[in-house]
Amino acid sequence: DTPTIFVVTPTYTRNSQKSELTMLSNTLRNVYFLTWIVVEDSQSKSDLVTRFLKHCGVPYVHLNGIDPLRYTKTKAGYQRNLGIQWIRDNVNPIKTPGVVYFADDDNSYDVRIFDEMRNTKNVSVWPVGFRGAKYQAPMVENGKVVGFMSFYGSSRKFAIDMAGFAVNIRLLFERPKARFYYQQQGILETSFLTCLKISYDDLEPKASNCTEVLVWHTRTKEPSFAFEAKMVQKYGKWYN
Ligand code: UDP
Ligand code: MN
Repeated sequence: DTPTIFVVTPTYTRNSQKSELTMLSNTLRNVYFLTWIVVEDSQSKSDLVTRFLKHCGVPYVHLNGIDPLRYTKTKAGYQRNLGIQWIRDNVNPIKTPGVVYFADDDNSYDVRIFDEMRNTKNVSVWPVGFRGAKYQAPMVENGKVVGFMSFYGSSRKFAIDMAGFAVNIRLLFERPKARFYYQQQGILETSFLTCLKISYDDLEPKASNCTEVLVWHTRTKEPSFAFEAKMVQKYGKWYN
């Protein structure tokens, strides 16, 4: 049985949202046995995302919610937890084996990363491009992960980017309380992986023993709508 990849993507309203979701959907559409769990950071589901998902060509689940604690320093931890909880509530890991991957809407993904993560036994890891360096990566010796090199938060046990790991969903059921602790800044990834009670020895290095970069922590420059009022002035109205 081919394991299903559950891709959890938190997303929020902004000028570039639809273009970013479009790029991500163009990637995910190439991957079979994939369910895209899109979690809007909003009180209610937006028309834009609702319409977008209907024709995106990727099997999806549309969720939304806002952090009741309104904690804003760490982005979208609450929404990722909603994604995890959806899997716990709706998937039988025996009938539907799978892995969960947390894919931000603005990153860049080589479709081969999905082949790499699909057969994750417990937790698989790989390098992620950018963030203060060409890439950050698990350190691998003799086929085993012995640590992580990164600029940011290098003292964390699992000093890894959100885009750099995938987890077999079986672990979500074995560790029913595992979640992202987002109220403290800078510990999002390591807090979740710590909940899974895994050691470095359990980590499966992917992407040719972590020597290839197949995902990038890219960031999109927010487009400016600063001249809309001037355009309306010039043309008399906004056509269409
Ligand atoms: N995000 C969100 N609500 C926010 C800010 C971000 O849902 O208030 C989402 C965003 O769409 C992305 C992820 O959380 O999928 C990470 O956010 P961002 O890319 O801004 O973080 P950075 O790349 O700066 O770490
Ligand atoms: Mn980002």
